[in-house]
Amino acid sequence: MEALLYQKKDNKKVICNLCSHRCVIPSGKAGICNVRINNNGTLYTLVYGRTIASHVDPVEKKPLYHFFPGSMAYSIATPGCNFHCIFCQNCDISQLTDKNFLTAGRKANPEQIVSDAIRSGCTSIAYTYTEPTIFFEYTFDTARLATENGLKNIYVSNGYMTYEMLDMIHPYLDAVNIDLKAFRDKTYRHFTGAKLQPVLDNLKKIKQLGIWLEVTSLIIPGVNDDPAEISDMAAFVSDELGSDVPWHISRFFPSYKMKEVPPTPVETLLSAKETGLKAGLYYVYVGNVLSANDSCTKCPQCGSLLIERTGFGVSHNFIKKSHCPDCGTHVSGKGL
Ligand code: SF4
Ligand code: SF4
Repeated sequence: MEALLYQKKDNKKVICNLCSHRCVIPSGKAGICNVRINNNGTLYTLVYGRTIASHVDPVEKKPLYHFFPGSMAYSIATPGCNFHCIFCQNCDISQLTDKNFLTAGRKANPEQIVSDAIRSGCTSIAYTYTEPTIFFEYTFDTARLATENGLKNIYVSNGYMTYEMLDMIHPYLDAVNIDLKAFRDKTYRHFTGAKLQPVLDNLKKIKQLGIWLEVTSLIIPGVNDDPAEISDMAAFVSDELGSDVPWHISRFFPSYKMKEVPPTPVETLLSAKETGLKAGLYYVYVGNVLSANDSCTKCPQCGSLLIERTGFGVSHNFIKKSHCPDCGTHVSGKGL
């Protein structure tokens, strides 16, 4: 299928404006993501209508803790990614060694995805596991149809899209979780192959567009666990995005090209949580650890328990019409 968001240039070159790499692609070549190919001066997406993963997940698994808590999200991915993170936990589908994207996964058109989501009782469709930006055309058609059918749409993303792409998708996008993977440009370039600034700019733009936003930071020993860097990250989320943006601090486990690095010590995660709270954030969660206390939601005003979670499940939700039942403080989010 012909791609959206690109321009034709001289000598049958094209420039792809889907993500901040803005690849200039000669005829016969693919972009950094490997799933957009220039065929004789026309850019094509190779992954439209092909899902390599589809599961019914609790929305808490995205993670989104302030968006229709306890609901299910029909979660899909196509192969490929515009990042090449050496710690990727889904590298088997994001960094395919077999580049035959036209046959990877199973065929599923937007109508099928929406009907599967409705049939399985989901509240939303999540575009996740790999990177929704690189299967934008597929998400765009599916999200429009999902909206018409009363479903919500969620992106779980590395945040490297362009403003042009956000402007197109935002009327159909209800919630986003963006990975803020580090707060040093050098770290971004070395470990992901991308730059930090576009991610920061997009986080602000998503907030301005009024899409519900939560942020996740995977803390990796020796990569981004320096207390000063964590403090800078927390200050950015609090000062530039808002105190009510939930921040998920996630535990790293050895994977892909970082199998020699040990899991993040729990003390590092708890210290990062303290840093987030000190920076003024209302909702800081610790993920990938078995601790009910660090995954529950408490009222930022009076400290009352608002949502109790066990694993990815919601065991109790005490919120009354988006307010704390004890002191009446408003709780940010959607569908609370
Ligand atoms: S989506 Fe990004 S990585 Fe892929 S071709 Fe377009 S600009 Fe390049
Ligand atoms: S952005 Fe996500 S899916 Fe893509 S390589 Fe990095 S960790 Fe993997």
